[in-house]
Amino acid sequence: MRIVILGPQGSGKGTQANLLSEKLKLPHIDAGQLLRDEAEKNTVIGKNIKSTMERGELIAPSIAPKILLKRLAKNDCKNGFILDGFPRDVGQAKMLGKITRVDVVVELKVSDALAIKRLSNRWQCMRCDTVYGITLLPKKSGLCDKCGGKLVRRKDDTPALIKKRLKLYHKVTEPVMDYFKKQNKLVSVDASVPVGVAFKKILALLK
Ligand code: AMP
Repeated sequence: MRIVILGPQGSGKGTQANLLSEKLKLPHIDAGQLLRDEAEKNTVIGKNIKSTMERGELIAPSIAPKILLKRLAKNDCKNGFILDGFPRDVGQAKMLGKITRVDVVVELKVSDALAIKRLSNRWQCMRCDTVYGITLLPKKSGLCDKCGGKLVRRKDDTPALIKKRLKLYHKVTEPVMDYFKKQNKLVSVDASVPVGVAFKKILALLK
């Protein structure tokens, strides 16, 4: 099954994609994380990605789709994938359609107020990227339960950048929902409820 998960920052895309990945035994392709990994490389492209992310903007159309589409071409995606955070605009949606079929697009819906609250309390493990927040607190403050790695705040989770990223989401990513709705591929889920409740709803909609 080829699943795309979309939703504003703080809607729990990564968490739901991880759960789906475990349940359906399909790889979780996290667009933001792939780009953050690329940003860590000391290359011209890496530096460009890093500075764009730190401004809370989308990575250029000449860079982001190439990295994502290359990842989807790998062998582990041949039976399907859970694609999280791509496509982010209609141009990317069209590009995706040219290289692979999409079976279903899951839209996670939360208010801006809740998204801001969640992102303002988000911590990520430096080592294994596990995300913690208001509904999942680490057992030992500042340390990852899974690997003991140090928990840090993302550089783009500042109040100003959170607002900027949400604004961009409404402007350029929301039209992607209409694009898939017209293809009868869109299902929408209320993601303001607890993680397990939203996950059950998603599974029911995928049947
Ligand atoms: P996320 O982890 O989904 O919040 O994404 C973090 C950042 O990565 C975004 O603010 C963008 O700078 C970049 N990014 C993630 N996905 C995409 C994409 N599909 N196209 C362009 N930039 C992206």
